[in-house]
Amino acid sequence: MPVLNAPVLDQTVRHLYVHVPFCPSICPYCDFHVLTRKSGQVEAYLERLEREAAWLASQYTVELDTVYLGGGTPSFLRDAELEALVGSIRRHLGWGAGENTLEINPGTVSPARAALWKSLGFDRASVGVQSLDDATLKFLGRQHDAAGAREAVSTLIGAGFRVSGDLITAVPGQPLEGDIHGLVGLGVDHISAYTLTIEPGTEFARRGVTVQEDDERAGFERTEQLLTAHGFARYEISNYARPGQESRHNLAYWNNRTYLGLGPGAAGHYPAASVSEAALTSRRTNPHLHTWLTGEPGEAEAIDAEEYVTDALFMGLRLRTGVDLADVSQRSGLDVRARHAGAIATNVERGWLELDGTWLRATPAGWWVLNRVVTDFLEA
Ligand code: SF4
Repeated sequence: MPVLNAPVLDQTVRHLYVHVPFCPSICPYCDFHVLTRKSGQVEAYLERLEREAAWLASQYTVELDTVYLGGGTPSFLRDAELEALVGSIRRHLGWGAGENTLEINPGTVSPARAALWKSLGFDRASVGVQSLDDATLKFLGRQHDAAGAREAVSTLIGAGFRVSGDLITAVPGQPLEGDIHGLVGLGVDHISAYTLTIEPGTEFARRGVTVQEDDERAGFERTEQLLTAHGFARYEISNYARPGQESRHNLAYWNNRTYLGLGPGAAGHYPAASVSEAALTSRRTNPHLHTWLTGEPGEAEAIDAEEYVTDALFMGLRLRTGVDLADVSQRSGLDVRARHAGAIATNVERGWLELDGTWLRATPAGWWVLNRVVTDFLEA
C-alpha cells in the first residue's frame, strides 16, 4: 500500500470495556460468554479483576473518557459486589470523564438500586428491553414482562440516567410497530435495534428456529422509518439516537480507537509498542472465566498498518457519517484512497457507497449489503 507518512496514533487509551459474565438465566439466542453464578465464583472474579486492572494500568497510559460495564448482566451483581468492582476500576484505571454506562436487566431495577448505581458514577443505562410484547418476550426466554420493562425504564429515567433501550427485531409474530412506539413513549433517548440472529451452539439453533428474510428486511427498514418520524437519527447501522445522545463508548469502537478489555471473554484493542515492530496496534481477547481465573492472558494479535486500515473501513462504514479516509491515512501512515481505489469505484458505481470529499460512506442500499461491500476491500 502506498506510504504517506509515519503513522500518527494516540498512545493514550481512553475507553474501557468490562465484562461481567453472570446472568440469572441463559436466553436461548445468546452466544456471549455468560454463566449462571455458582457459589464462590463472583468472589474469585472480583479478586482476579482487581489484579487485571492493576496489570493494565502498569502496561498502558490510560486517561479514561468512557467506561462500559457489559455482559452478561452487570446489574445482576449484588450491591456490595458492584461497589467492589467499581472500586477496583477507580483505584487502578480511574473513571470515564465523558460517559459511564451500565448494562441493566429490567428485572434487577428498583428505585434504591438505581440511586446506588447513580452514586457509583454511572450516568447512562443500557436496558435489555428487547420487546414490549409479552408473547415476544416469552418466546425470547426473557425473565421480565412488558410491565416490568416499562417500570424499569421509568425508574432509571426518574433517577437521572440517559437511557438506551435494546430492541430485538425480526422475531416471529412480533408486533414491531407497537414495540417501537412503546419504547419511544417510555422516554428513552437511544435505541439499539438488532435483528434476531440464530447463532450456532445456541438453544434456538438446537431447536431449529429460523428468521424469515421478510421479517429481517422489515425490521431493518421499518424501524428506521418509525424512529426517524419520532426524531431519532440512525447514526449507525443498528443504533438510533436523539441529537447528542449517541453512545460515546460505541463510537470509539466504530472509529477504530484503542480500548482496554477487562474481565473474562473481554476483547481489547491496544497501542502495540511491545507486540512487534510492524504492529500499529494489537488486539487481545481474554479467555473464558475458568482459564481467566488462573491468570492466563489471551494471546495478543499484532495489527499492522494494512489490517488497521481494513478494520477502520469495516467499522467506519457502519456509521451514517462514514469514515474519513484522510484521518485513517494519517493514523495508519498509508494512502488509503489509492490502495482501495478499485473497491471504492466499483461500489460507488453499484450505488452502495458514496464519496463526499475525503469521507466514504455506505448508502442506505449499501448498508443492507455491507458484508458484501467490505469483502471487496478485503480482496483488494
Ligand atoms: S440477559 Fe443478555 S447476556 Fe444474559 S443470557 Fe440473556 S441475552 Fe445473554
